[in-house]
Amino acid sequence: MRTVIYPGSFDPVTYGHLDVIQRAARLFDRVIVAVAESERKQPLFTLAERLDMVKRAVKAIPNVEADAFTGLLVDYVKRRGAAAVLRGLRAVSDFEFEFQLALVNRKLNDKFETIFVTPKETYTFLSSSVVKEIARLGGDVSCFVPPHVCKALARKFGFDKQPKHPH
Ligand code: ADP
Repeated sequence: MRTVIYPGSFDPVTYGHLDVIQRAARLFDRVIVAVAESERKQPLFTLAERLDMVKRAVKAIPNVEADAFTGLLVDYVKRRGAAAVLRGLRAVSDFEFEFQLALVNRKLNDKFETIFVTPKETYTFLSSSVVKEIARLGGDVSCFVPPHVCKALARKFGFDKQPKHPH
């Protein structure tokens, strides 16, 4: 059984992440979406909220599961017996960081590979940060994230309340 781990902050999960997950689900027996604590990035959503959003988003894909992890990715990969780590590459701008990360992880443990998947072109401009910025300003993000994530963003930014005195 070949397992791949897709680590990330998923703050929050987007259709770009889900595109990568669906492609990986066709290549591997099992995909574990591993939500990182990412404390240093000061995420908008708590680890539990991010995990819950990912869980709901992948519910319908049989060989995909979601989990949370803290600490070093290489330790987590070993613990779960995975053969590879999956990362998404949107553009050249992602490359330098991802390349460095892959090589550092190999230095820490050379028993697994990092595999890169490119999303559908329509998602190459999409990032969790862009989604948060639009949602913060009250914009519509329904074409970027699943409905339950849309609702969570509206709640977070206080756009979920109906105006008391609509004109
Ligand atoms: P991290 O904080 O680890 O970068 P992210 O949740 O931002 O976590 O991203 C996790 C992985 O998914 C990264 O490899 C990132 O490049 C990739 N990714 C993010 N958005 C997209 C997208 N729209 N299309 C493809 N890959 C993406």
